[in-house]
Amino acid sequence: MMRVGAHLTIAKGLPEAARLARRVGANTFQYFTRNPRGGAVRSMSDGEIAAWSLLRREYDIFPVVGHLPYTVNLAAPADATWGFAKRVLREDLERAGAYGAEFLVVHPGSHGGEGVERGVARIAAALEEVFEAVEGPTMLLLETMAGQGSEVGFEPRHLDGIIERLGRTERIGVCLDSCHLFAAGFDLRTHEGIDAMLAEMDRAVGLERVRAMHLNDSKVPLGGRRDRHELLGQGHLGEEGMAALLTHPFIRKLPLLIETPVKEYTDYAGEIRLARAFAGAAVA
Ligand SMILES: [Zn+2]
Repeated sequence: MMRVGAHLTIAKGLPEAARLARRVGANTFQYFTRNPRGGAVRSMSDGEIAAWSLLRREYDIFPVVGHLPYTVNLAAPADATWGFAKRVLREDLERAGAYGAEFLVVHPGSHGGEGVERGVARIAAALEEVFEAVEGPTMLLLETMAGQGSEVGFEPRHLDGIIERLGRTERIGVCLDSCHLFAAGFDLRTHEGIDAMLAEMDRAVGLERVRAMHLNDSKVPLGGRRDRHELLGQGHLGEEGMAALLTHPFIRKLPLLIETPVKEYTDYAGEIRLARAFAGAAVA
């Protein structure tokens, strides 16, 4: 069964999020663990979490994926920023465990001019510290990035560098992003192109670590190194790219989370329907 969902909200609580997922036809979803500025978190009572667990089972929503705010920079050279990132990750990893979220996605971070090597070491040191502090069942997924500015994580070897330093622990995996990969230079508009990306990912981290995909089209052309999401089929990946991705045997087994620029969360109903239609398309 294909798992297709979108980036929704838990601002009105977890049970309401489950209802929203069902309303838009999602059988998986992602949420921001806190607002993009990284501010305070709304607390959820035990009763609310229990109601949520029941609803999620009834609606067959799996997996549930948290996403750290963009302000979290685990590669930050400045200690204040780095310390904030570690604190937010520790708290949100713990909370994701309490909610029963299977995965927590984080952007590896930006090295701020210190270089990829230094950034990779900084990220690994932060993760080591957080994994030490939080046991929890939630798996942390490093997201593949577009390579904008001083971002770390736009080449599979960056992710390998982090995972290697962590002793290849099973607590860490990878979340692909079709828009970011395309902007980083991987042409995903054919099965051959997707296979080439997956082969490189396999050599770097092992395909068993690849656990989810952000399904987005790209406003930026191939190799454009900028992170600009577009509605499915309307960007440079286009209908050809969406059909190639959604009919690819490995990709279609991943939970697919759509993060396209819709106006309202309920508009994801159309995007999810479209993704399912592309999945039924014939590809040359
Ligand atoms: Zn992301």
